[in-house]
Amino acid sequence: MGRFLAKLLKWTKIVDFDLLVRRSETFPLNKNIENEDIIFVVDGGIEKWACLKCPGNCGKTISLSLNQARRPRWTLIHDCLYRPTVKPSIHQKNGCGCHFWITKGKVEWCRGGRPEKE
Ligand SMILES: [Zn+2]
Repeated sequence: MGRFLAKLLKWTKIVDFDLLVRRSETFPLNKNIENEDIIFVVDGGIEKWACLKCPGNCGKTISLSLNQARRPRWTLIHDCLYRPTVKPSIHQKNGCGCHFWITKGKVEWCRGGRPEKE
């Protein structure tokens, strides 16, 4: 319901977001990740992964470990509209170089962290 409501509110321009949480019990296949999705993998009540397509249009899939015992690790929370907030920032050092925050469903680019538009 939250996701449907969020999309409706975006359509009516009441709220805005780039990404919405979609819950899954299993690690998603690349082809099953929509551009607007961040897949929140929760298996048996344990938060495991957050997976999304890089918003820099490079097409890379990003998998963030939510395992608090490992490094690096991230935390993902979402509001009642399923808009995610991820901490800390996401920096693709070994990949496309994209560097951004996700706050209340919006992608916020760090200085120099956005790839040049083609
Ligand atoms: Zn990228």
